[in-house]
Parts: sequence; structure tokens; C-alpha cells
Amino acid sequence: MAQRRCIFCGGGRLTREHIFGEWFRRLVGIEEPRPGSVTHHVPGSAVEHDFEAIPSARTARVVCQECNNGWMSRLEQEASIILTPLLQGQSGTLSEADLETLALWAFKTAYVLDAASPGSGASFPAAHRYALREGGELPARSGVWMTTWPGTTTIWTSHWGLTLGADEGREADGPNTYGATFALGPMAFRVYATTMAAVDPRYFSDTIPGIVRIHPDPSPLAWQAKFWLTAEQLEEWAFAIPRLIEQNATNGDADAAFWRGEDSAPIRGPQ
Ligand SMILES: [Zn+2]
Repeated sequence: MAQRRCIFCGGGRLTREHIFGEWFRRLVGIEEPRPGSVTHHVPGSAVEHDFEAIPSARTARVVCQECNNGWMSRLEQEASIILTPLLQGQSGTLSEADLETLALWAFKTAYVLDAASPGSGASFPAAHRYALREGGELPARSGVWMTTWPGTTTIWTSHWGLTLGADEGREADGPNTYGATFALGPMAFRVYATTMAAVDPRYFSDTIPGIVRIHPDPSPLAWQAKFWLTAEQLEEWAFAIPRLIEQNATNGDADAAFWRGEDSAPIRGPQ
């Protein structure tokens, strides 16, 4: 069923808006329509991985006018000022404040992406979305990472969600562990959050060079303009956390329901 309430405040008066800021499209000069979507299934995997290359002009009707023209617009504007030189291939220093802004923006973008996904509606926890709007707060157990890949004018997105830790046979009513990875041109961001202590983001570290964690506890960053990840590595990185969780799922956790991408029906986890 289509979402008819603002995903950030529950208000009505939804407005059709761009999923990614128009400043990006103007910056890279994309005017023509881009391919709709690309789905890539990983053979032999217990979990199917869907990837999407979405047109930069794509719109969705998931937020209200007040949110869109207020805090979301301000955050988008702040992020665009920080991102523009990076997208133009400049090196430079990013302050803690810059990185905090990018982390909030990355989560805001991930929530919109999730909600705009065909068929499923908003699946990431409402409490997390509301806290972002109300207090500019990210979930207590969350992480944001940033890197680069040789994308040029593409927008690439992926997202996933897991319902972990069913309590006394009663399943949570939606994913409590989730993530999204998206790239605007060469800049790629990955967000991750969970309500479960056992899969706190501090347990996941990246072994590939060129990946910077910008939340929590950012420290000033000397940014080096360079393509760090290959396209293959980007895909691998996007799903590294759910793969690890999947691999470590013991029989006791086998009822974890795996959900992702454009599939509204849960896919069962490894047995
Ligand atoms: Zn709203």
C-alpha cells in the first residue's frame, strides 16, 4: 500500500520532489533521461542483491511540503556546498562540522530512497526518521562511511533491511537493522543503523583502503581526490555488513527475515 504520510513527520500534504537534489543534475549537466533500473542478482547467494541506477530526475511522493521546503532543503543546500568541490575532483580539508552535515544528509537521503522504492514503502524505522527531523539526530547505533569510485554522472543506489532478534516468537514489525549505499557521481556513501547491540556498527571495519568513517566521532579529514574503489568493490562494500550478519547467523537466529530492495515480501535467511 502506498505511503500517504510524510515519512519524517507523519503529516499530510505530500509533495512530489526529486529524490536527489537538482543541484547534482545541474552540476553534472544531465538533461537526457537515464536508464530506469538495473537489477543484479548474485547467483548462489542466500540473499538476492538488487542494485539500481536511478535517473537523477526521478521524483517520489514521500515527504510533506513543510519538511521538504524546511529542514530538508537547508540540509540539502549545506551538503551541496560541501560536495560540489569534491564532485569536481578537488582535494581539500573537511572539518568535523562538514562531516557531521554529510552524515545527516546521507541518512536523510537513505530514508527517502528506501521510501521511494517501488512497492515497499518506507521500511526503515519510523522512530529513526522522526528523530532526524525533530532533533537532527542519528540513531544511537549508526555509522556513515564515505569513499569514491569511477562513477561519472551516474546515481547508483542500493539498500537492505533485516529483522533481527525476534522476541519470544513475536517478530518485530519491520527491519531493525538496515543500510543503504548510494553514489552521486564518484562520491559514494554508506549508512548503517541497528537497534541491536550484537550488531553495533563498531563491530564492522573495512579492510579496503580509501574508505573513511565520517560518523560517529568524525575527525577532520584531508580529502584526496582519487578513485578508491572499483565498481565491483563498491557492490561488495554495499552489502558487506548484511553478508557478515548472514554468515554469522547461528541456528538460533535463523528466523531472521531478510528483506531488501524492491522486494516487498521478506526472503528467508540462511537456515
Ligand atoms: Zn513532513
